Amino acid sequence: MSENFEKTFSLEDLKNWQRSGRNFAVVGDPVAHSLSPKMQNSAFEFAKKTRPELASAKYFKFQIAPEKLGNALEIFYKKGFEGLNLTLPHKIAALPFLKKISKNAEIIGAANTLFRDEICGGFCGENTDGNGFKFAAENALKRKIAGTPILLLGAGGAARAIAVAALQSNCEALFIKNRSREKAEILAKNLRKNFPSAKIEIVPEADFYCEKSEFFVPENSLVVNATSLGLKISDASPFPKNLLKSDFAVFDATYGNHVPALVADAISKKIPAADGREMLAWQGALAFEIWTRVPAENVFPTMFAAISK
Ligand code: NDP
Repeated sequence: MSENFEKTFSLEDLKNWQRSGRNFAVVGDPVAHSLSPKMQNSAFEFAKKTRPELASAKYFKFQIAPEKLGNALEIFYKKGFEGLNLTLPHKIAALPFLKKISKNAEIIGAANTLFRDEICGGFCGENTDGNGFKFAAENALKRKIAGTPILLLGAGGAARAIAVAALQSNCEALFIKNRSREKAEILAKNLRKNFPSAKIEIVPEADFYCEKSEFFVPENSLVVNATSLGLKISDASPFPKNLLKSDFAVFDATYGNHVPALVADAISKKIPAADGREMLAWQGALAFEIWTRVPAENVFPTMFAAISK
């Protein structure tokens, strides 16, 4: 059986899977671009120096079509896979196939990390994206989420996880701005149900860009980009540079081989800023901790280095 973690495996490969040793994987569609194998295998290499029981552990990537996900999860379980990460489009779709989900994954409405439960006879789901954001923002920006006003750009999957982590961490207030207002309203409604005493507001598009706007981005805000704008080098910033103030901090969940425009704008104004590699590495380190009990902070530096090369 192949040890090649650069290869993208298929459902057929999974059906024929015979590798002995401890198996882990990321499952997506598409998945070829995923940095998770590089990151998780570097963590296994690092951790096995002090944890010999991890010597045979390897992390692979599987491309599985959405309609085959339920069947694939059963096979992953039967083949003895110990842990899985889910990426687009499976994070939400997987929930009905899981034996249990954590409270955190339930509120977010998505799971990105699965672990085996022998008693239940299947996989259970957790979501480490939200706490990945919290650890990343607090460590990289040296700013506590508690007591900080958050301006969240976006209302998709990443925004959901970030919003829940921010509210769980007692952010001062959460302002949501999204291209389609309807999706922002759905997100806000769900959040208000789970966090009834929190201050959650939607920023109307018109107010946001208007000079005489009644909407005022509060002092010491953390501006978080959870839109897809920033993925491509040609993408404009989702936040006007002239509204970035010197007491703000910026966190951009997107990551790639370039500096996203929002981060570049913040740096040019000497505002603390970080991109999504920090979050990617922290969510991966938190998943690694769930599977191996190796503390996330011990493997984070190795994982971050692996994706920053
Ligand atoms: P979704 O598809 O669920 O959501 C995309 C969001 O981006 C929506 O709010 C959408 O607005 C908005 N959007 C898309 N295109 C535009 C545009 N041209 N202008 C303004 N807004 C736009 O994606 P995810 O939430 O899963 O991912 C969002 C980003 O976060 C991606 O770049 C992804 O790579 C990154 N991410 C990073 C992680 C990390 O660990 N660093 C983890 C997960 C995601 P609308 O509702 O109007 O369509």
